[in-house]
Amino acid sequence: MSTETASLETVSYEGVGLTYSTARGTVQALTDITLAVPRGHFVSIVGPSGCGKSSRLMLTAGLRSCTHGKIRIDGTPITGPQPNTGIVFQNDTLLDWRSALANVLLQVELRGLAKAKYRQKALDLLRSVGLGGFEDRHPYELSGGMRQRIAICRALIHDPHLLLMDEPFGALDALTREQMMNDLQALWLEQRKTVVFITHSIPEAVFLSDRVVVMTSRPGRIDDIVPIDLPRPRELHMITEPIFNAFVQQIRVIFERQGVLRSNSHTGRTQTLSDAHLHGLDDRSGR
Ligand code: ADP
Ligand code: MG
Repeated sequence: MSTETASLETVSYEGVGLTYSTARGTVQALTDITLAVPRGHFVSIVGPSGCGKSSRLMLTAGLRSCTHGKIRIDGTPITGPQPNTGIVFQNDTLLDWRSALANVLLQVELRGLAKAKYRQKALDLLRSVGLGGFEDRHPYELSGGMRQRIAICRALIHDPHLLLMDEPFGALDALTREQMMNDLQALWLEQRKTVVFITHSIPEAVFLSDRVVVMTSRPGRIDDIVPIDLPRPRELHMITEPIFNAFVQQIRVIFERQGVLRSNSHTGRTQTLSDAHLHGLDDRSGR
């Protein structure tokens, strides 16, 4: 692959805005989003609840249209649902009456692809995320982490080059979440998809990303973009190291400036990573 090809942008946002019209008036969810995500990069979006993160994912998937600006995928403006995209939501949206394998193959069926051709691939994907031997189990027999792994396989089965993830680990317990971070990194290093990953967790964003895009409150704008210059593969123990913490703090300071995070009035310091390990920006709302 030439350098020129390797640096191609997969997704570019050009002055993107989104305003919802509702019976009670309009809601401006996003404004002036300009960003390029190069092929094979892992980009996280962090921001307070309601700043338009999910909306932006829906726009990127072509499930909604921008009211301002353009989104291009591989240089072509989006006009509808994207064949080359996989999506993972916070809620795994698995069908309980289907086995793990049949849930992964659902994507193939919905896209009208030849199921037999993808069966082995689905089994390989399930094995690669630690679910070898679980292909005949049903979602209700499996833990939240295992279910979300199936959802990730389902998003990847048709080999999309862009993976969109909307708080995929948000409903999982802290330990499972750490394991999922680790495993997602391994999968990404193996497959090198372009990933747009939405999270409330600053440490999760730092652990996984090449760049972290920090959003403002609604209407969501890009406040800052923080490159995460840490070697890969990143190890979970790095999360407690000063070099990792420095990135977390850099992002926290941006949210302090916005007033989204406040300093502790007694100690005069903001929450540190050890206080808030793997917890999100939403903690104050008691989610
Ligand atoms: P986030 O994912 O960052 O929490 P969302 O993209 O879900 O934010 O929502 C951004 C804003 O747009 C919120 O104020 C939300 O209430 C509003 N919103 C989201 N979806 C709709 C919709 N379908 N109709 C009207 N308003 C919406
Ligand atoms: Mg959301």
